[in-house]
Amino acid sequence: PSCGDGPLPVLGRDVSVPLVTGGEVTYAALDYAASAPALQRVWDDVAAYAPYYGSVHRGAGYLSQLSTDLFENSRTTVADFLGCRPSDEVVFTRSTTDSLNLLAGALPAECGVFVFETEHHASLLPWRHADVTVLDAPRTHAEAVETLERALAARTPHGPALVCVTGASNVTGELWPVRELAAAAHAHGARIVLDAAQLAPHHPVDIAELDVDWVAFSGHKLYAPFGSGVLAGRSDWLQTADPYLAGGGASRAVTRREDGGVDVEWHTGAARHEAGSPNVIGVYSIAAACKALTEAGFDSLVTREQRLVDAVRAGLAEVPGVRVLSLFGDDAPRVGVISFVVDGWNSSHFAAALSAEYGIGVRDGLFCAHPLVRTLLGAEPRETGECGAPEAAPGEKSLNAIRVSFGAGTPDEHVERFVRAVG
Ligand code: PMP
Repeated sequence: PSCGDGPLPVLGRDVSVPLVTGGEVTYAALDYAASAPALQRVWDDVAAYAPYYGSVHRGAGYLSQLSTDLFENSRTTVADFLGCRPSDEVVFTRSTTDSLNLLAGALPAECGVFVFETEHHASLLPWRHADVTVLDAPRTHAEAVETLERALAARTPHGPALVCVTGASNVTGELWPVRELAAAAHAHGARIVLDAAQLAPHHPVDIAELDVDWVAFSGHKLYAPFGSGVLAGRSDWLQTADPYLAGGGASRAVTRREDGGVDVEWHTGAARHEAGSPNVIGVYSIAAACKALTEAGFDSLVTREQRLVDAVRAGLAEVPGVRVLSLFGDDAPRVGVISFVVDGWNSSHFAAALSAEYGIGVRDGLFCAHPLVRTLLGAEPRETGECGAPEAAPGEKSLNAIRVSFGAGTPDEHVERFVRAVG
């Protein structure tokens, strides 16, 4: 079904929450960038399949065979959703974080890694054991490409290299020039992995058309329930690397050696990195979400979401003292993820007030992108918790921000209520 001009039905759309001022209101989930509510359609698909599920790749019975087929068909659905090349692998993981850590463990020897400081920690940190170059935040798309080209051109020795870049920022919602960065990487003999955690829920991602080597994303941001993710792309590095996890499913043959040890021959293909019994429901639900989004049609989803983006930005622009965080400026293409600070307000208190007084769920903090948020706020580095932030001292700049994010399930009323509340 097409979504027309209305939201797609999602879980939790009718939940009422108490207000501190008395009474109740329908919860406005405006924190899609953290986890989007699952589509009702995905939940229904999973419920229809659930009575029949069985072990995958591990049973001779009818339900095991059925589950194995559904599991492997899910791989094909995801490959189609991402426009994979025939030789690409689709590996099922737990999340984007898991996918990028898997790839980090498959880097060839002496691989240089290039990342912008603007990345989410999931794309900034997994490469710490490699030779990492962290690039300064660019202020235009052209500067992003030039910065990368300069860094790649300067690298010595010319061994293997990997660039990791986000498709859409989880802080500013701004799109990155992925196609151009991929061309720059390839021109300099490097490979590129796209962190599509925030891009895939909002835009079609075509791995062949973008000409990226790998794509990573998470089911729980793509309107599927929690627990599954994807790493899709070139198989060669994955095939030569040790398995991400050692265990059953990744091993083709295991034999006892005369000296008492064991020899193992690892599988090739996705199975090499999918040891252990897989998350069958999670994988099935990711595929169901891919199908539901494809059927709803990204054209209408994007058009509708852009209308909401414009409404939020226009509303925030009217409020004195609100500063929207942006790297690339007002005209940059962006998805439904917008972060801001309000003069005179502690961002955590502001977010708490939106919840308590209006039933609106947003997020405050540094959004697991500490270097980026600090660059955007112009604040000094400080000790913080993993994703949280300390309070600003009196007279100091804000150390954290407020993020509102939305997507295919967001009714206009949620955005209207948010704009009214901030005003
Ligand atoms: N990359 C980006 C851009 C993200 O926004 C997130 C989640 N906030 C991640 C990676 C990590 O995703 P997950 O928590 O599902 O592993």
